[in-house]
Amino acid sequence: MQKERKAMTNVTLIMGDGIGPEIAEATRRCIEATGAKINWDICEAGVDVMERLGTPLPDETLKSVEKNGIAIKAPITTPVGTGFRSINVHLRQNFDLYACLRPCKSYRGVRSKYQDIDLVVVRENTEDLYAGIEYEKGKDDTAELIDWINKHSKRQVTPDSGVSIKPISVKGTERIVRFAFDYARKLGRSKVTSVHKANIMKHTDGLWLEVSRHVAADYPDIEFEDRIVDNMCMQLIQKPELYDVMVLPNLYGDIVSDLCAGLVGGLGVAPGANIGDNMAIFEATHGSAPKYKGQNKVNPVALILSGVMMLRHLDLAAEADKLEGAIASVIAEGKDVTYDLKPDRDDPTAVGTSEMADAIIAKMK
Ligand code: NAD
Repeated sequence: MQKERKAMTNVTLIMGDGIGPEIAEATRRCIEATGAKINWDICEAGVDVMERLGTPLPDETLKSVEKNGIAIKAPITTPVGTGFRSINVHLRQNFDLYACLRPCKSYRGVRSKYQDIDLVVVRENTEDLYAGIEYEKGKDDTAELIDWINKHSKRQVTPDSGVSIKPISVKGTERIVRFAFDYARKLGRSKVTSVHKANIMKHTDGLWLEVSRHVAADYPDIEFEDRIVDNMCMQLIQKPELYDVMVLPNLYGDIVSDLCAGLVGGLGVAPGANIGDNMAIFEATHGSAPKYKGQNKVNPVALILSGVMMLRHLDLAAEADKLEGAIASVIAEGKDVTYDLKPDRDDPTAVGTSEMADAIIAKMK
């Protein structure tokens, strides 16, 4: 399988909307310049295609992701209050992409209060308060649930409450913690920290911690420790150098991954991936920034770094190193970079999305 991939790999490239098509094209060009042999299956999704085809996620796009098992997805707008469900959530659920992987690494030249950060956030993507099991205040179902709780619990829920359910399972925890350890082993990392609030939520986070400890025993070559989430946040601000790979339930993972993106200078340089057992979709952390659509203005690096993650996922380490080195060098020089990477955002020497990609490609020649 791996040898076949090295010969030619089929990858679905979802162009997205807003700034999506511009950064997707920059990413495609940069990945091709590494020499990686990729067959691109270019697909559409988002608000633009919705207007034409009546669906934001055409069947051909879903089929292509399913067939290839690997995709790079540019951002997609989720319009507020239209009934148009988030395509990002749909893809994660449809393909059971249970691991959200977010490396947060400092690059010289990106303005940040911190240097030398090198952290990886592994967030569980399917359970917890994000599972979408919610009961609205005042509805019959909610009243029934509250009645049941009040009959069976010493704690009482008042009738004017909304209720969200927090499921955390053995299976869901085991597979994400194992993913974190396997990732640490593959990337030569030395420590995994499991993050929780087990002191308060004994039956959900307590289960998470117990399963984490159990899985850790299978990886004696990798250090294991746990942290309570509030302490973890403070420690990341005070002593980020003490941490390496962190594995977190869905909600804490969401919050801590933004905290870590903040440590390395923000959204413009924050890549990511959603990974399941047989499928992986690589995407930037940022959204579709519609106000910049078609202006050739925004920073393509977060999606290109997501491409670096994809190359590593495909065991194309040399190509990944080459591309990451070229990105790091362009950012460090600070000349051919987009407005957000200049000391002054109105700097007239800032280049466009496409020209920054050209500079990255030139470094690889
Ligand atoms: P956003 O990330 O799109 O933009 C927020 C601001 O961040 C922008 O106005 C811009 O100033 C800056 N920014 C973002 N990306 C940048 C880049 N590459 N270079 C330079 N500056 C950049 O967040 P938003 O405005 O809250 O969301 C816009 C839309 O994107 C919403 O519909 C949201 O649902 C969607 N979204 C999609 C994804 C995804 O596809 N994975 C993720 C987040 C948000």
